[in-house]
Amino acid sequence: MTPSKLGLVALSSILFSVTLPLLSQELNSTFARDGGQPLDRQYTDQILKYTTDPSFISPLVDYLPASKTVPTPAKVLGDISGAPDMLPYAEDVYRYFRLLEESSPRVKVFTIGHSEEGREMIAAAIADSKLLAGAKDNDARLAQLADPRKLGLDDAKARQIIDQSWPVYYITGTIHSPETGAPTALMELAYRLAVDDAPYIKYIRSHMIVLITPVVEVDGRDRMVDIYKWHKAHPGQDWPHLLYWGHYVAHDNNRDAMAMTLDLTRNVLDTYLGWHAQVLHDLHESVPFLYDNTVGDGPYNAWVDPILADEWAELGWHNVAQMQSFGMPGVFTHGDFDTWSPGYLMFLAGMHNGISRLYETFGNGGADTEKRILQPEDYSRTWYRQNPPLPVVSWSQRDNNNYEESALLSTISYFSHNTHHFLENYYGKSKRAVEKPALEGPAAYVIPAEPADANRQIELLRVLKRQHVEIEQLSDTITSIIPAQKRGDKPTQETFPAGSIVVRMDQPYSRVADALLDRQFWAAGDPQKHPYDDTGWSFTHLFNLKVVRVLDPAILKSKMTPLDDPAALSGKISGSGPVLAVANTSQVSLLPLVYRLKSATIQVAEQSFDADGKHFAAGSLLISNSPENDIAKVLHDLSLDASRLGAAPSVPVHAVPSPRIAFMHSWLGTQTEGWWRYAFDTAGVPFDYISTQTAAHHPDLRANYDVIVFAPVGHSSALEILNGIPLWHNPMPWQKSELTPNLGALDSTSDIRPGLGYEGLAHLKQFVEQGGLLITCEDTAQFAIDTGLAPGVSVAPHDDARVVGTVLNTVFVSRDNPVAFGYGPGVPVISANGMAFNVSNTLGRTGGRVLMDPLTDPLDPYAKRATGRGSVDDSDEPQGRKITEAEPLVKQQPWEPKPLNEEQTRNNPQVIPIPERPDVILRFSDAKTLLLDGLLDKASSIAEHAVVVNAHLGQGNVLLFGNNPVYRGETIGTYALVFNAILNYQRLAQKPAPADQQPPVGQTVRPQGTSFGGGAIPEQQTGR
Ligand SMILES: [Zn+2]
Repeated sequence: MTPSKLGLVALSSILFSVTLPLLSQELNSTFARDGGQPLDRQYTDQILKYTTDPSFISPLVDYLPASKTVPTPAKVLGDISGAPDMLPYAEDVYRYFRLLEESSPRVKVFTIGHSEEGREMIAAAIADSKLLAGAKDNDARLAQLADPRKLGLDDAKARQIIDQSWPVYYITGTIHSPETGAPTALMELAYRLAVDDAPYIKYIRSHMIVLITPVVEVDGRDRMVDIYKWHKAHPGQDWPHLLYWGHYVAHDNNRDAMAMTLDLTRNVLDTYLGWHAQVLHDLHESVPFLYDNTVGDGPYNAWVDPILADEWAELGWHNVAQMQSFGMPGVFTHGDFDTWSPGYLMFLAGMHNGISRLYETFGNGGADTEKRILQPEDYSRTWYRQNPPLPVVSWSQRDNNNYEESALLSTISYFSHNTHHFLENYYGKSKRAVEKPALEGPAAYVIPAEPADANRQIELLRVLKRQHVEIEQLSDTITSIIPAQKRGDKPTQETFPAGSIVVRMDQPYSRVADALLDRQFWAAGDPQKHPYDDTGWSFTHLFNLKVVRVLDPAILKSKMTPLDDPAALSGKISGSGPVLAVANTSQVSLLPLVYRLKSATIQVAEQSFDADGKHFAAGSLLISNSPENDIAKVLHDLSLDASRLGAAPSVPVHAVPSPRIAFMHSWLGTQTEGWWRYAFDTAGVPFDYISTQTAAHHPDLRANYDVIVFAPVGHSSALEILNGIPLWHNPMPWQKSELTPNLGALDSTSDIRPGLGYEGLAHLKQFVEQGGLLITCEDTAQFAIDTGLAPGVSVAPHDDARVVGTVLNTVFVSRDNPVAFGYGPGVPVISANGMAFNVSNTLGRTGGRVLMDPLTDPLDPYAKRATGRGSVDDSDEPQGRKITEAEPLVKQQPWEPKPLNEEQTRNNPQVIPIPERPDVILRFSDAKTLLLDGLLDKASSIAEHAVVVNAHLGQGNVLLFGNNPVYRGETIGTYALVFNAILNYQRLAQKPAPADQQPPVGQTVRPQGTSFGGGAIPEQQTGR
């Protein structure tokens, strides 16, 4: 759009007459504008023109003041903020903010970092020039409120500082790229804050600093603008939905505030804490017309300070009341969003002694003005939404900007009049965070020094560092009293060796460490029936670590020193000799090591051995001919220890080539696979990135690849994966072009619609049959089952079990399987919905395991026999004839296939040959011990069922995960399940037992060395 457009529009005939509700004009003197300040008439006229209903605007934004020196957003946009048919790229938005900085002493702009693809992220600070000039001194004062240890926890000193200080309010826009309104709203908001002389705005800028990051997901913004431009250039055609938002994930970029894997999360937290801001206010679009979910719904996160919960109530209800007084419909603050998970971007503030806030405004996924038809649940009146949205509206991007700016200006105004109050709260929350050991506890978390865990410990410590948590290391061995896990049990003692990690709770950001390391419990009877996200996330469990919660504050007096670089915990090489042994401890770095040492000879030990005073589990690596000068650095980079041995141990080994990996995505969605891509990239595991369309056109996948990773697409059916998007309408390209310069960098296609197709499926099948490994998870595991790639595996019915992002306990069924190398008896897994598998010895309609044979159901002894004579354990005996005893039934466990007898196998082509039958590797533990963190109800339908299964097809394997082992950077403990499988892809096939050892038909096949019978591995020993 060109700048001249603004001048060309004939206004009078199009404008609706501005009849704002009386209430807003007469009673809102608080927000009266400065009558002496001239208006930018043209801009103002455009605001009114693009607003589709007089009730969709407030007296705060129904005009724009003129400035002789400061340009309006129209200077860059060519039209006003929120104008239809126009979305600016991030760099245009930045250009405007830099113009503001050049022309106004009230604006300062700075870079806060870059995205994964190298795009800049900025923040702008806006306040009176006097405040900006003193920002550094102010920040030094706020830093003392943020860390009350610096004040000796002295309230009188804090009071003095509060009297001299002004707060910082941080607003972030468009983390979710299809939610497009925030950048232009924030451009105009910045102009108003810098230029408008309305008394309330003058008050804001003289009492606080407003910090704005107009574009959080900058990679996704530029792609969104590309596809919007494509849409405008192809009127009447379907346009692709946004596939890649960030480089890795889409919507989940707002679920990263725990592990902090993404650059945008790190940049925002560093800015937020760097400025010692009091509020982080994130802008979104979904529900009509403005849901200020500052109040949200229960349950609230169990680790937030009650002061914060009351600040939410104060700010949320005040904000919607204010909007109500402007007469704007559809504004509410209580609604469908529980405030339990701390994974949302804004929650960075909630976990760091600030205030987290989030707006959902209404948006059209672009700048088209559209007729929007709402659902009854959206426009119905309820107690907390007395003035609901209208059922049918014409909605424009300008309407969105009006709501966003009006709500922000009014809430900032409220904040500016209560700066003392909010700074007192800020100090109060920080002080209570430091006082945690003496108040609610705990005193500390201790991660005992344990070389076998070091690799995963380092990963956890890196997360804590990114969260700005202080970490220390014990100088001496100490003993602490540990409270019992169960109420009523006696406390125990635990000795922690020198070098153990201590996360003290008497530090300012103790709250976030506590929330991540503690356990979560979501009551099955909780009135909130729709958890908004995961209900459990304990990093202690998900990193498969021992982390001890210590209540006794005596530990804080122990001698300890800060640990600045977690990497110092590993990288040691001991012993001497030509063979380097690296123990498999289910760490994340064994597979990457193979790629880093490409010139070395690497073997996998198939059995455990002892050497150099250490135990090496099966699956450990034996390396020879490695470049000497390189190895120490490589081990340090990968957080691995190694032992030099005089000779290779005498155990069976197999050679490890560097497996050739294809990472296959579907054009249906790239959200969840992105977390896998992130994990492979950060670990340093190379792969070719292909799509299902590539597989469809590649007749010999096996020639190029050993392993194909088909990570979850996200709630897609086999039919959708095969068919893709219907071909009825126009092709939808995803590729770089003059119009769309930001598309196609990761992968490209001239038409995203075609799916894998039946040809692609045939190629995939052939790939596996020829010895390849296909790794599947959740919906792609379902796909493998539905398309016949996993003979004998079915999904266990689990609809009645309630699992919502829950951390569950498991038991390895087959510890000899290479997938289990390096693990203990079990490993905690995160389960989205309780997906589990049944395995069967037959195909066809009798294939999927009959859930429970009533005659063998171990859960229900009364089902074991039919009605008749005798007791429950007795046999019935028909009268008047000799008794014929039935063959004793083989006891079947929930994770086992139903055994077949002679009768069932006779002339039955559906019987799967023994070597082809699926192997169960991991199963859920029993119902009593299944839950670790989060919500679990009606556990019996999934308890003890298989959760990781390896199916056989021809020479190859299909690995199926019911849990997601590579998820949000949080599941470090289960990465090795995937990496072990890749490293040993040639050894996953079950070797048929010699003929004389083959069990007679009718008995299940049990891999060597596996414990059976349920009780062999006590459930309480499993997964930490
Ligand atoms: Zn959103």
